[in-house]
Amino acid sequence: MKDTPANLREVGRLRVLEALHAAPRTSRPELVRATGLSRATVSSLVADLVAAGLVTEDEAGEEPADGPRRTGRPAQALSLVPEAGYAIGADIGHQHVRLMLCDLFGGVRWERWAAKDVDRAPEETLDLVAALSRAALRDADVDRSRVLGIGVGIASPVDKDTGALGADGIMPGWVGLRLTDELRDRTCLPVRVTNDANAGALAERMYGAGRQTVDMVYVRLSAGIGAGIVSNGRLLVGARGLAGEIGHLPLIPDGLVCRCGNRGCLETVASPVAIARLLTESWGQPVDARDLPALIAQRNTGVLRAVRDAGDAVGRALSALVTLLNPQLVVIGGDLASAGEDILEPVRSGVRRHTLPSAVAGLDVVTAGLDEKAEVRGAAALILADAPALLSGA
Ligand SMILES: [Zn+2]
Repeated sequence: MKDTPANLREVGRLRVLEALHAAPRTSRPELVRATGLSRATVSSLVADLVAAGLVTEDEAGEEPADGPRRTGRPAQALSLVPEAGYAIGADIGHQHVRLMLCDLFGGVRWERWAAKDVDRAPEETLDLVAALSRAALRDADVDRSRVLGIGVGIASPVDKDTGALGADGIMPGWVGLRLTDELRDRTCLPVRVTNDANAGALAERMYGAGRQTVDMVYVRLSAGIGAGIVSNGRLLVGARGLAGEIGHLPLIPDGLVCRCGNRGCLETVASPVAIARLLTESWGQPVDARDLPALIAQRNTGVLRAVRDAGDAVGRALSALVTLLNPQLVVIGGDLASAGEDILEPVRSGVRRHTLPSAVAGLDVVTAGLDEKAEVRGAAALILADAPALLSGA
């Protein structure tokens, strides 16, 4: 398409929105530098955005506390209006739905958690997400036209083009269901879907332990084991959106048959379910994976041994990712992250033992900075990451 003046204006508007989304409280001169546009163009675009209610000018003209000192008349600070757009995040687990309404900067305006037997009831679950979305907009008094979209993180591999779930053996009732279409029909909102590990990675990168880095791997140690990979600041999703399935890296030759159909996957030895199975055999009484955080807190010797062995296995599997991707940070999240150093230290030593020394130098392995709401915040962030483009209608 040719760059007509109208197109150039749209491009300029997008650049201004991007600059203000990245850095709230920006002066006009800073905006000119950040966008590469002329002073006159910036002034005109800002006037339009203020008139449209998307941008506000700080009347007080206060200097940001950590900003550079300026001389003369203080420059007025421009900011995006947080309420100019909203995103809904939905975290669909195996046994719950969590929904959150966020403003443009990820500020939480409404949230709710509901128990649900998700795996066997896809239709009811989708109806619940739609009902919670309506409740969020009603309670927070937000018009649907202000919502840029609904982002979904779900405990299943998701095809990034079709939104179809590759839920074989994972969520029995959901196989082949096109989540994107189903939710768009129910909510009349744009929908983006990813798996829960990618949603967690995005949240940790934007609001949690990964705020200072652009190259990180987030590993979610819950019922399933998955990883979300952020490379050069962007989620690395692969051709069909299935990158990061670290839980199904082969680890034990001739090991247990995994739910994916292969043998000896990481998940068969290091997931909370695998640890609970070990304890069930050892104690001669059923142990539920959901009780592991409480058992870890009691510091039972056998539980800690099983957790440490799981950490070592995770470290060995991670060594492949660290060697190939050279991240700066590994963030451990999910149910097993509550074990703290009892899981981190074996992960670190497992990575160190099996990774190119130069790739492991400077690598940090830490627990997640966010709590169990990481996935839902990341789901909303799927939309918010593109807020400037969605706001400018590009
Ligand atoms: Zn597997």
